[in-house]
Amino acid sequence: MDFEKYLETIDLLNKAAAAYYRDDSPFMSDEEYDRLYREVVDFEWKNPDKKQSFSPTMRVGSKIREGFTKVVHSEKMMSLDDAFSVSEVEEFFNRLDFVPSGGYVVEQKIDGLALNIIYESGKFVRAATRGDGSVGEDVTENVATVKEIPLYVPEFAGIKLIEVRGEVYMPKSSFEELNAAKSGYGEKPFANPRNAAAGSLRQLDPKVTASRKLKFFAYAITGISGVDIRSQEELHTFLRNSGFKTPHFEKMEKIEEIEPLVERTIAERGDLPFDIDGLVVKLNRFDEQRAAGFLTKTPRWAIAYKLPAIEKTTKLLDITWQVGRTGIITPVAELEPVEIAGVVVKRATLHNIEEVERKGLKIGDTVFVRRAGDVIPEVTAPAEQLRDGSEKEVVHPENCPVCGSKLAKDENKVGYKCQNIDCPAKIAAYISYFVSKGCFNIDGLGEKQVEFLREKGWLKSVTDIFHISDYALMLAFEKGWGEKSVYNLLESINKARKIRFRNFINALGIDGVGEFIAGELEKKFNVEELVSATPALLMQIDGIGDIVANSISDFFADRQNHETVEKLLKEVEIIYPEKSDGPANTAFAGKTFVITGTLSQPREVFAEKIKSSGGKVSGSVSKKTDFVLVGDDAGSKLAKARELGVKTITEEEFNAMLG
Ligand code: NAD
Repeated sequence: MDFEKYLETIDLLNKAAAAYYRDDSPFMSDEEYDRLYREVVDFEWKNPDKKQSFSPTMRVGSKIREGFTKVVHSEKMMSLDDAFSVSEVEEFFNRLDFVPSGGYVVEQKIDGLALNIIYESGKFVRAATRGDGSVGEDVTENVATVKEIPLYVPEFAGIKLIEVRGEVYMPKSSFEELNAAKSGYGEKPFANPRNAAAGSLRQLDPKVTASRKLKFFAYAITGISGVDIRSQEELHTFLRNSGFKTPHFEKMEKIEEIEPLVERTIAERGDLPFDIDGLVVKLNRFDEQRAAGFLTKTPRWAIAYKLPAIEKTTKLLDITWQVGRTGIITPVAELEPVEIAGVVVKRATLHNIEEVERKGLKIGDTVFVRRAGDVIPEVTAPAEQLRDGSEKEVVHPENCPVCGSKLAKDENKVGYKCQNIDCPAKIAAYISYFVSKGCFNIDGLGEKQVEFLREKGWLKSVTDIFHISDYALMLAFEKGWGEKSVYNLLESINKARKIRFRNFINALGIDGVGEFIAGELEKKFNVEELVSATPALLMQIDGIGDIVANSISDFFADRQNHETVEKLLKEVEIIYPEKSDGPANTAFAGKTFVITGTLSQPREVFAEKIKSSGGKVSGSVSKKTDFVLVGDDAGSKLAKARELGVKTITEEEFNAMLG
C-alpha cells in the first residue's frame, strides 16, 4: 500500500464506518472492513510519520446520529483489538510486562451494539450507546422497553451509582420476522441482526423499539466502589444474581486451551439463537486487568478472537428461474463465487418472486450473503449505496423457462407454476427426488446420469428406472461408465424393489405429504386403501387437514398418476411394518436421544427404533437430552454431551437397553 492508497482506504473505511454505525446500513461486509483495516494498521506501523489523525485506527465507532441527546460517558467505552488465530492472542498477552497468573475468561462475543446503563440506588436512570466512545446517544426511553433489562435491581439498592455495560442484540428469529414484516410496508430489509438491533434501538419513537424484541447480555460494570468483586468470573456471578443475563463463558488457565473452544464454537454457532462474531479473551483477575491498562481505543487486558465471517458481499450476476418437481418456478441468485466459512457459494435460492421484490434486489447489485452453520446460503439485502445506475430490474418470466408453456399463479399466490405435466424439468427434478433417501434411496443416479438417460429416451418416467438394466451394457460402453458403477447402480435399483410403504408414499411427491405424513398414512392404510381413501377418511389422521386430504385424493384421482402407481406396483413389493399385537415396547418412554457419528446402519433406523419404543429424537444436545448415541468419528455433539455431563451410549449399549 502506498500513501495515496492509504488515504483512499481510510476515506473508504470512514465512509463505511458512518454507514455502519450511524446509519445502520452498511455497504461493506465486516470481513472486508477488517481486511482493509488491517492493511491500514500495517501501513501506519511501517510509516508512523504518515499516520493521519482522521484514520479509523484512531477512533472508536463514529459520531452520533442527529436527533438524539448526547451523553458523555464517565469512563470511555472502548473497542477491542482483534486476533484471527490463537498465536495472535498469545502474542497480544505476551506484550504485557507481567505474566498473568489468574487465568483467562473467554466469553462469547455477541454481535450487537454496546450499551451503558446507569442505575442510581437500584433504579434505572439512563442508557446510552457507545457512540464515538466518549459521547454516546441517550436511548433511555428505548432501553426501558427492552424486557431483559431490569428497571429496578434490588441488589443495587445500596449502591449510589453503578453502570452496567453489555450488548443489546436481536435474536435471529426476531430478525427474520422483522425483515418479513418490513416487506409489508415496502421497506428495505436489514442486512443482518446486528444492524437490525442498532436500527431498532436508535429509534426516535420508543414504541417502535418496544415492538422489536431486543435482548441484552451484560459483561462489565464501572463506576462502583464498595462492591467486592475481584475477577471477571465473580462479575458474571454478581450480574447473574442481580437479574442480568451474561454471555456464555469458559474459564481457562492457558491460552492454548482456546483452540478446542474455537472449533466447538465454529461448529455450534449456527445453532445459537443469536449471532456471535467471535470470542472475547479477558484476563480474569481485575488487579491484572488494571495493571495491563489501555491503549488509545482498546484495552490491553482483552482481545476479540474473530471467527470466520458468515457474511460477505458479492455481485448478483443474474437471476435464473428453476422448475421444481411440482412445477413451482423458483428464482435462483447466480452469484460471483464467494467463499463463506469454508464453502464456495455460487448460487442461493430466492424462494419466490415476492422475496426478490421484498429484498429490492436488482441484477448487478452488490449483495450481502449469509451462511450460518449448515443453513443454506441466503442473500439478505442489496448494498444500495453502491449502485451506479447500471443495475437491471428483475423480470419474472411469463413462460416456463424449460418447456415454454404459459405459467400460472401457484396455490399460495406468491409465485408461479408450470402446469404442463410433460415438462421435462419437472420430470428430471422429480426423478432426483424419487431416488433420494426417505424415498426409493437409489444410489448412483445423479443429475448427470439422469440427464444422459433422458437424452437417450430411456428415462421418460420414474417407472423406467426399473428397466435401466436393459441398457446397462450400452451405458458402460457409450458413456464410459465403469463396470463397477453400473453394477452398483443396478444393485441399488434391485434393492429398491422392496420398499417400505411410508417411503413409497413419500416418493409419490404428493403436495403436502412429506416423511411425517407418509408415516402417519402407513399406520392407517395399505396401498389399495390409500388409493381410494376419501378426504373425510384421510382427515381422521392427526396432522392432516382438508388441504392435504384433498391433495392426496386429487392425486390418486388423476388418471396419469393412477397409471404411474399401477405401473410402479408391478415393479416393486411394498413392505408394511410389523403390527404387533403384544404390548408396545416402552423401553425409551419419555427419553430424549441425540444420535451422532457413524453407526452400523443409517441414523433413521435408530431414530425409528427410539420412536417406536416411546422415545424422542432431537437434533442438538442440551441439558434435557437423556442419552447421546455415539457412533464413529463423532464431533461437536459428543463434546457438548461431555461438557453438559449428558450420558453417552454406544450402539451395543443401545441394543442392550432396547432388549
Ligand atoms: P468490535 O465489535 O470488533 O469489538 C468491540 C465490541 O464488542 C464492544 O464494543 C462490544 O460492543 C462488543 N462485545 C460483544 N460481546 C462482548 C463481550 N463478551 N465482552 C466485551 N465486548 C463485547 O469493535 P467495534 O469497534 O465495535 O467495531 C469494529 C468492527 O465493526 C469491525 O471489526 C467490523 O467488523 C465492524 N465494522 C463494520 C463496518 C462495515 O462497513 N461492515 C464498518 C465499521 C465497523
